[in-house]
Amino acid sequence: MSINDWSDNALTDHLNDEWDDEYYPNLPRPRFRSPHRHMERWSHPKEETKRQDVSQRVEKPRKFPSVSVLNIGHSNKFEKTGDMFANCTVTFIKGLKFNILVDTMTAWDGAKLERMLKEIKLHPDDIHYVVCTQGHSDHTGGNYLFRNAFHIVGTTMSHGERFMTSPLNDGKEFLIEPKVKVICTPGHTLDSVTVLVDTGKEEKGLVAITGDLFEREADIEFPKLWRELAGSQNPEEQEKNRKKILEMADFIVPGHGPMFQNIYKNITGAGGTGPSASH
Ligand SMILES: [Zn+2]
Repeated sequence: MSINDWSDNALTDHLNDEWDDEYYPNLPRPRFRSPHRHMERWSHPKEETKRQDVSQRVEKPRKFPSVSVLNIGHSNKFEKTGDMFANCTVTFIKGLKFNILVDTMTAWDGAKLERMLKEIKLHPDDIHYVVCTQGHSDHTGGNYLFRNAFHIVGTTMSHGERFMTSPLNDGKEFLIEPKVKVICTPGHTLDSVTVLVDTGKEEKGLVAITGDLFEREADIEFPKLWRELAGSQNPEEQEKNRKKILEMADFIVPGHGPMFQNIYKNITGAGGTGPSASH
């Protein structure tokens, strides 16, 4: 059974079944809980009563996931020392099945992350998947808060001490749910990934949460920003993957800046270096 065949309860059931007490004799059996438990908590109890009181109107079921940026990242270099001052953009995906959080800032931001979630009426336990677009410490620091979630850090997928086989390890895509998937976009680091979310034509279309594949919107005009300020372990691969995302995405959430509309999508020859094509 490939991990792509797993879906909501099947995933947790599978992991509960598979836990091997003989293989992990000294460890407590992990509790992989049903995602539905969390989904019920999404609607605030007060709103629920209000809705029922006013009428028996049935809310339209959502057909697409939604994307919201919880924290806008930044990055700058100190001129004298060359040190960086940076923190990442944090994105929440309200999927049709799962609550997904992309990138978790530094280890000093736990309380901030909890506050941001509280504002959207969620607790860290309500998150089913944490995706870190790569392994750097400004994208993974808050992971420890999310102990109910599967953690996808770059191409590695784990829960507790258990590391799952994942198609990302072979450069293939991993489908979290039908309209949300993770693809490999190496360049900034060799393990970098992008989350693609189909939010529907009436909303933002295809949103790509790219991590540092794009530092921020300005790096399309000024490639020095991704090549030199952020740095790249493989600039050729990164350029190729930037081009791929610019050709498909309607909106891009970069690693260290606000979400932006991809105005380059329909420009012939739009690519990793952007319209100015100079760097
Ligand atoms: Zn970064």
